[in-house]
Amino acid sequence: MVAEPSNQFTPDLKPACSAADLRLLHAWLRPLQTALTLEADRGCIDLQGRQERFHSFLTRELATPPPIPLPADSQARLQDFTQSYSTYPSLTEAARRRLVTTTRQWLHGLRQRLEPSQPMAPPRLKVAESAPVAKASGSAAGPLNLDAPLARVKGIGPKLAERLASLGLLLVRDLLLYYPRDYVDYSAMRRIEALEPGETATIVASVRRCHGFTSPRNPNLSILELQVQDPTGRLKVTRFLAGKRFSSPAALHAQTRQFPVGATVAISGLVKSGPYGLSFQDPLIEVLETANAPLRSRQIGRLLPVYALTEGLTADRLRTLVELVLPLADRWPEPLSPDRRQSLQLIAKAEALRGIHRPVDREGLQQARRRLVFDEFLLLQLGLMQRRAAIRKRQAPALDGVGQRDGLVGQFLALLPFALTGAQQRVLAEIEADLVKPEPMARLVQGDVGSGKTVVAVAALLNAIDAGWQGALMAPTEVLAEQHYRSLCQWLTPLHVSVELLTGSTSRPNRRRMLTDLANGSLHILVGTHALIEDPVDFSRLGLVVVDEQHRFGVRQRNRLLSKGLQPHLLTMTATPIPRTLALSLHGDLDVSQIDELPPGRTPIQTRQIAGSDRQEAYDLIREQVEAGQRAYVVLPLVEESEKLDLRSAVDVHRQLDEEVFADFSVGLLHGRLNSADKQAVIRSFAQGDCQVLVSTTVVEVGVDVPEASVMVIDHADRFGLAQLHQLRGRVGRGAAASHCLLVNDSRNALARQRLDVLVRSTDGFEIAEMDLRLRGPGQVLGTRQSGLPDLALASLADDGAVLEDARDEAKRLIDEDPLLNHHPVLRQLLENQRLRMTAAGQLN
Ligand code: ADP
Ligand code: MG
Repeated sequence: MVAEPSNQFTPDLKPACSAADLRLLHAWLRPLQTALTLEADRGCIDLQGRQERFHSFLTRELATPPPIPLPADSQARLQDFTQSYSTYPSLTEAARRRLVTTTRQWLHGLRQRLEPSQPMAPPRLKVAESAPVAKASGSAAGPLNLDAPLARVKGIGPKLAERLASLGLLLVRDLLLYYPRDYVDYSAMRRIEALEPGETATIVASVRRCHGFTSPRNPNLSILELQVQDPTGRLKVTRFLAGKRFSSPAALHAQTRQFPVGATVAISGLVKSGPYGLSFQDPLIEVLETANAPLRSRQIGRLLPVYALTEGLTADRLRTLVELVLPLADRWPEPLSPDRRQSLQLIAKAEALRGIHRPVDREGLQQARRRLVFDEFLLLQLGLMQRRAAIRKRQAPALDGVGQRDGLVGQFLALLPFALTGAQQRVLAEIEADLVKPEPMARLVQGDVGSGKTVVAVAALLNAIDAGWQGALMAPTEVLAEQHYRSLCQWLTPLHVSVELLTGSTSRPNRRRMLTDLANGSLHILVGTHALIEDPVDFSRLGLVVVDEQHRFGVRQRNRLLSKGLQPHLLTMTATPIPRTLALSLHGDLDVSQIDELPPGRTPIQTRQIAGSDRQEAYDLIREQVEAGQRAYVVLPLVEESEKLDLRSAVDVHRQLDEEVFADFSVGLLHGRLNSADKQAVIRSFAQGDCQVLVSTTVVEVGVDVPEASVMVIDHADRFGLAQLHQLRGRVGRGAAASHCLLVNDSRNALARQRLDVLVRSTDGFEIAEMDLRLRGPGQVLGTRQSGLPDLALASLADDGAVLEDARDEAKRLIDEDPLLNHHPVLRQLLENQRLRMTAAGQLN
C-alpha cells in the first residue's frame, strides 16, 4: 500500500524531543517530583524546605518550564497549577491532596508524552463489522440498482425521498456519490493520561462509580455521572438525560445499573477541559461484555462521516441511509483494469466508495479518497484532451510569414520605447511557433500585473494582420476594453492598422458601421467586451482572438466562440496566475506560457497592514503623497449581494473624504453603477490630475493605468481574495516613484492577518496565488461553479498535486493508445455523462 504524502490527516504526533531537550526536561522534573512525593508522604502540610516552603518552590518551578517543545495544552495547565499553588496554604487538606495528586499525575503524563520510550500502548477495540445491511433488494419493482429512485429503497418513504431530493439526491447512485463533508474521528484510541482537550477520541476504561441525579433546577434534566479509570488515570464522564421520564428514582436507577462498577466500557467523544480536569461530555458509551468483545455500536471507535444536511434530516439518519445503499457500491462499474489499478496503486472503485462513507481507519480513508479523486481528475483530463484533439483537427487560418518580423510586427517592436523583456520574447516566440502550425492555437499566457502581456498580445495580433487576417481583443469589462482600445490606437495608428471599440454602449449607427467594415475586411482589429461573441458579429477573416483576463471567461465562452463555427487561433491572458498543476488541470485544453519577469525599472510597492482604528495614518500618507504631486486610490470592497449597500458606503466615504478629510483636494468617485461615459470621465480626471484622490469600488481592479498614482489604501482588505488584492495593488507602482499599499484590516481573525501578511511579504503573483489556494482552499479561490471541478477534486487540489499528475499521465496514456476510448466502454460512458452534465449546466447559466 502506498502512503500518500498528505497533511490532511496527520495523527497527533508527540512533539519531537531531542536528547538535549529530554535532559532539560528531566532536570526540571526530578526535583519537582521529589518535592511532590515528599509532600504527599508527609500529609500535605506545605513542607518547610531548607530555603523555602513547598508551595513557593512549586509555584516558581511550575511557572518556569524548560524551553523545549511542550504539548499544546501544557502552557495553560502549568499556569493553572502555578495559580493553584500560590493559594496552597489557604486550601483545605483535602484540596491540597487533590492538587498534589493531579500535579503528580499530570507531570507523569507529560514525561510519558515527551519521552520516546514506549508510551503505554493505546487500547484496542474490535470495531463493529459492517452491518449486514439492508436487503439491497428493492420492492415489487425488482432488485435495486444504481439507477433506482431512492424512494424505492426500503426504509425511504415519500417524505424522506422528498427531503433527499432537496439535496439533489434522487437515485441510489446520487447517495453513493454524496461524499461526507468531514469526519468525526473516534478512531483515535487513547489512554486517559494521553487525552488532549479539544480532540475526539476513544478510550476503554472500567467503571469506578456511577451515579445519577435530577438537576435541582430543572426536573426535565437528569444527569448520569461516571467515574472511569484505566491504568493511566481517571476521568469523569457526564451524560445528560433529557425528559421527565428519567427523573424518578427507579428510572435513574435503571440508568445507573447499565454501568456497574468494574464493567468495561468503550467511550467515544469530545474531550473537554474543565475546572476538575479533563472530561467527556455526553459521549457515546458502550459496555463491553469482555475487553475483547466486538462493539455493537457502529460509531464508537470509528471515523464517523459527517454529511451536509438539510432540514429534517439528522446526521444519524443520513448515515443510516447511506449504509442502506452502500452494498450497492459493488455494482459500480470499474473504469480501470486490475492491471492499471495495480500499477497506479489504486484500490477498486467499489472499495473506495465504501471506504469514503465508512472508513475503517485513516489509512483506509486516505486510500479511498485517493482513488475517488483520481477518477475525477482522470475524467476531467480525458474530457479536456479529447476536446483539445477535436480542436486540433480543425483547420486554422494559415498565417504566412509569421515570426519573420519584417512587416507590422517588426515595425511595432521598433517603435516601442522599450525592448521586450526576455520573458516577453520567449512567450511571443511560443505564440508564433503555434501560429505557423495548420492547427488552431489554444494558448494561455499567465503573467503578473504589469508584466507586459498587452504588448505581447498586440505583437501576436499584428502577425495575423500581416498575413491578411483580422483580429479581436476581448476584455471582461468596458473600462478595460476602453483602456486596451486607447493603447492600441496609440500604437497602431502610426502603423495604419485600423482599430475600433465595440461595447454595450456603442451607439447603433457606429455599431452598424463597424460591422460593415468588419464584414468587408477594412477593419483590422475589433476591441470589445463579451458583447463581441454574444452578438452576431461577422468577421470576414478572423485569424486570432485574444481574450484578456481569462479567468472571467469560462470554458463556456470559449465554447461559444468555437461553436460559432469559427476556428481562429485563440490566445487567452490572465493576470491571476494559478499554480502550474492547477492551470494544467483547469485548462488541460490549453497550452500554458508564463511571463515570469517584470520590465526593469519598477520600484517595488511597499505594502503594510494597518488596523481600522489607524486609518488616520493612511490619510496622512495620502496627504503627504498628494502634496508631493502624486495621486491616491481609496478602494472599498464590493460584495455582489449587497451592491446597493456598498454603493451607499462608497458614496458616504467619498463625501466624508471630499468634504472633511481632504477638503483641500479634489476627490473623485468611481463605481460600477456609473455609465461608461461617466466612468471614463472620472478616470480621465484622475489621470490628468484634476482630482488627486479616487474613491473606488473594485472596478479599478483591471485596466486603469495612472503612473502618478503612488498610494492605494484598501479598506476592509480582509474581505478580498489575495489574488484580487494583488491585482488591485498593481494599479500603483506603475511610475518611477516609490509606491505604497495600505491594507486596512478590521478583522481580528488570525487567519485574515496571516493571509494579508502574504501580500506584505511578496509581490510575486504566482506565489500569492499559491498561498491563497493553501490558506483559503481552491473552492473559495476558484469557486466550484467557475472551475467546473467536482468538489472532491477541488478540495484535494491544494495538497494532492501528485494524484492530479498521475491522473494526467494516465489520461494521456489512454488517449494516445485509444483516442476514442473504444476499448474502455466504462470510461467512454462516464465521459459522455460528464459532457451531458456540462452542457446542461452551460445552458442553465
Ligand atoms: P499587463 O497587462 O501584463 O498587466 P501591460 O501590458 O499593461 O501589463 O504593461 C504594463 C506597463 O508596462 C505598460 O505601460 C507597458 O507599456 C509597459 N511595458 C510593457 N512591456 C515593457 C517592457 N519590456 N519594458 C518596459 N515597459 C514595458
Ligand atoms: Mg493587462
